[in-house]
Amino acid sequence: MDFNQKLENYALLAVKVGVNIQPGQTLVVNADIASAELVRLVVRKAYEAGAKLVKVNYSDEVVTRTRYDLAPEESFSEPPKRFGDEMEEYARNNACFLTIISTDPDLLKGVDPKRITMNQRVSAEAMAGYRQLLMGNHASWSGVAYPSASWAAKVFPDAPEEERINLLWDAIFRAVRADVEDPLEAWQLHLDELKRRCDKLNERKYRKLHYKAPGTDLTVELPEGHIWCQAGAVNGKGVPFLANIPTEEVFTVPHRDGTTGKVSSSKPLSYAGSVIDRFTLTFTDGKVTDYTAEVGQDKLAVLFSMDEGAASLGEVALVPHRSPISESGILYYTTLFDENASCHLALGASYAFTLEGGTSLTEEELTERGMNQSLIHVDFMMGSPEMDIDGITDDGTAEPIFRNGGWV
Ligand code: ZN
Ligand code: ZN
Repeated sequence: MDFNQKLENYALLAVKVGVNIQPGQTLVVNADIASAELVRLVVRKAYEAGAKLVKVNYSDEVVTRTRYDLAPEESFSEPPKRFGDEMEEYARNNACFLTIISTDPDLLKGVDPKRITMNQRVSAEAMAGYRQLLMGNHASWSGVAYPSASWAAKVFPDAPEEERINLLWDAIFRAVRADVEDPLEAWQLHLDELKRRCDKLNERKYRKLHYKAPGTDLTVELPEGHIWCQAGAVNGKGVPFLANIPTEEVFTVPHRDGTTGKVSSSKPLSYAGSVIDRFTLTFTDGKVTDYTAEVGQDKLAVLFSMDEGAASLGEVALVPHRSPISESGILYYTTLFDENASCHLALGASYAFTLEGGTSLTEEELTERGMNQSLIHVDFMMGSPEMDIDGITDDGTAEPIFRNGGWV
């Protein structure tokens, strides 16, 4: 299969499986200018599928970096209010949203953390209404990736420069199943398989999960009525969509106050424009009470300074170490891919749909039932081939779920 066919398959997957656009609907695409080739294909596929309007918001990583280097301080305390309001209005009016990520995982390396903190906070606040609609699955949303030269250089530093992008493309096409004859059918089969995993876990109704691996000994309580989900979801109008491509995870919500112990990261995390690596978090009664990082400790500080909920968990996800993405052995330096090669947890906001009846509850009601609220939701990878996970039932019995990084 040639490159153009695979790229076309990828665009089709983003439109038909990712946001699953319906006739008459508006699609909003947020993308870096470097990914214009894919954006244009997506726009074509969306109109062919009946889109009323495709609105493209281009950003440019060079422009972003230049701003961080040269703009005056006050540039970063100004919230992007109009953009936030516009996105929220689109979400309320049944638009769907596609993000195409392609930025350098270290784009903001060396930038004054104060500028980053300020900008992260005002942006998150300005986008809060929009984000809440998406996290509650009221509107359809999805994310895919497009390799930039800087990103490819980070993933394949030892390959000759002219080959890096193609290596990253090959890896992406394989991971997203764009290189098979019928990608839509391949995704249906894969999502059915993940659904079967969810069904089994939902039957068991575990009270707690207990993780053990080198550097990790963690107990995570699950609230009553938690639901195991896969990224294949259904929006407020009953239309299915897939929140990220690729996906290998099944996930649910931890109780906000119920995590205790220590967890060590197993892959680097790109957050706020730089990489955080080899970090350990200590939890007491659901909150991070201590943390260390060999790389990027100041960026972890940025994360925890966002708000109170940033120090508690909002998601717990199981991914076998032998997933296709993990077996490639490639470290992508982007959560969209790396989270599908490893069990992970997320700091910050929980998804209302991971609790029975959650999408019709108010913020206060969700909090009362143990759901964490925050301006952020940041997944970090902590799974490894040494990881064992037990499910603890109501009567305290431990049942093996994972052994040596894989499903029992
Ligand atoms: Zn996840
Ligand atoms: Zn997540």
